[in-house]
Amino acid sequence: MRDQLYINGEWVSPDLGGYFEVLDPASEQVIQRVPAGTEEDIDHAVRAARRAFEHGWGQTSGAERAGWLEALADELEAGQEALALLEVRDNGKPLAEAQWDIGDAIGCFRYYAELARELDSRQDEVLVLPDQRFRCRIRREPVGVAGQIIPWNYPLLMAAWKVAPALAAGATVVLKPSELTPLTALELAAAADRIGLPAGVLNLVTGLGAEAGGPLSQHPMVDKLAFTGSVPTGAKIMSAAAADIKNISLELGGKSAFIVFDDADVEAAVEWILFGIFWNQGQVCSATSRLLVQEGIATRLLERLVEATRNIRIGHGLEPGVQLGPLISQGQLDKVIGFIEQAKASGARLLTGGRRPAQLDRGYFIEPTIFDEPAENSSIWREEVFGPLLCVKRFKREEEAVRLANASRFGLAGAVMSGDPARAARVANALRAGIVWVNCSQPTFSQAPWGGMKQSGIGRELGRWGLENYLEVKQVTEYVGREPWGWYLK
Ligand code: NAD
Repeated sequence: MRDQLYINGEWVSPDLGGYFEVLDPASEQVIQRVPAGTEEDIDHAVRAARRAFEHGWGQTSGAERAGWLEALADELEAGQEALALLEVRDNGKPLAEAQWDIGDAIGCFRYYAELARELDSRQDEVLVLPDQRFRCRIRREPVGVAGQIIPWNYPLLMAAWKVAPALAAGATVVLKPSELTPLTALELAAAADRIGLPAGVLNLVTGLGAEAGGPLSQHPMVDKLAFTGSVPTGAKIMSAAAADIKNISLELGGKSAFIVFDDADVEAAVEWILFGIFWNQGQVCSATSRLLVQEGIATRLLERLVEATRNIRIGHGLEPGVQLGPLISQGQLDKVIGFIEQAKASGARLLTGGRRPAQLDRGYFIEPTIFDEPAENSSIWREEVFGPLLCVKRFKREEEAVRLANASRFGLAGAVMSGDPARAARVANALRAGIVWVNCSQPTFSQAPWGGMKQSGIGRELGRWGLENYLEVKQVTEYVGREPWGWYLK
């Protein structure tokens, strides 16, 4: 059991000695006591990261860093199954999904190892200028110390999306995982320790949002803040960053639409709609939580959708065959139930679900739920629920579907399903979102950019864009002309 912080290559107790309890959301039992880091711990961690950046890691080659990232991936791979089991106990998700997450996290470290190597070959790229008397080369240098704050829905994967590109770029890191799911991030620090990653390159401070995340976002020695979480916290991070003009990237919430046209295949549509809203208990920033279905196919599609939803198996994530685990916490359960009550009161028609499953007397479980025709201004149509709750609306024409999909303050993702490739492409282009899926919903690859428009965030993670988040671009321009410049010395 790990009940210490990882700072400067050592396991240390929190400065003020406080701890908080981590629960298994399926049993509501305490599974571990974890340090509640505070301002003092954050300060030690940031200073360690600063030293490591200035005296070592910041000066390494991409190839050297690639070696470390691969070693970290190997170390995680060696404990892959144990990590997946720990993720289920900490987060509640079904084992098969936890196994995907851990595999994806390992893949993410390997991918950024490749990009770190490639970065060496992109250094000192020559830029041809229109004036031959000047020679210009472009350097990409690490941003410095990165403060990274992550949520609870994909605990190790979110850590990988942040830590891997930062280390690949040559930045050093202070990571603050969610207080609800810190356990696999602690294992990531343990893996870094086992491979002998230089002290201070990766520091981990567990703790609560305001007490640990707050000081990290305000620390003057942090150069870059990378945050994934809710819009209100994102706004706080942005104001903290404004105080000393920190570089930021924000991955925030969503209320993404899935548009299904009459010419779609009903069974394929049902499959992707279910996956789009119910995997990970709907606690997915890119969940396609608003279904827009064309009138001609609506009755058949909804009949099959309701039938399939009722067959979803709910239970403890470690039970074989379970597809839907518990929500993350009592707070999240209360929030989802609140949305269900509001939806009923606003006149939306409940097609299925809406209750806590009778057979489970413990754990934060809720049935997968579908509401038909909520009002356009109702909270379930407009706000991010972050739970297994789907809202359906019908449309007649393509323009109407695009209008409804785009009428949101969020712009993270969207999906379209149609047998007509030209129409699918047209609608994909018209959606104001950073991620659009055609004839599917949710598959995510380390190589492709991830992030949103509007209030869904700023910047992109993953792919080359994820690496650029942790790089500063520098021009070095040299005067190679033989003549004097001629402004003063004529
Ligand atoms: P949250 O904003 O409550 O917390 C996220 C993190 O911020 C946690 O580590 C928390 O401790 C920390 N935090 C809280 N208050 C803070 C403060 N004042 N200063 C600094 N840090 C603080 O979000 P959550 O409930 O953990 O996650 C759910 C949200 O995350 C949803 O809105 C979801 O859409 C979003 N999310 C987005 C993406 C994406 O890629 N766009 C991915 C996953 C989750």
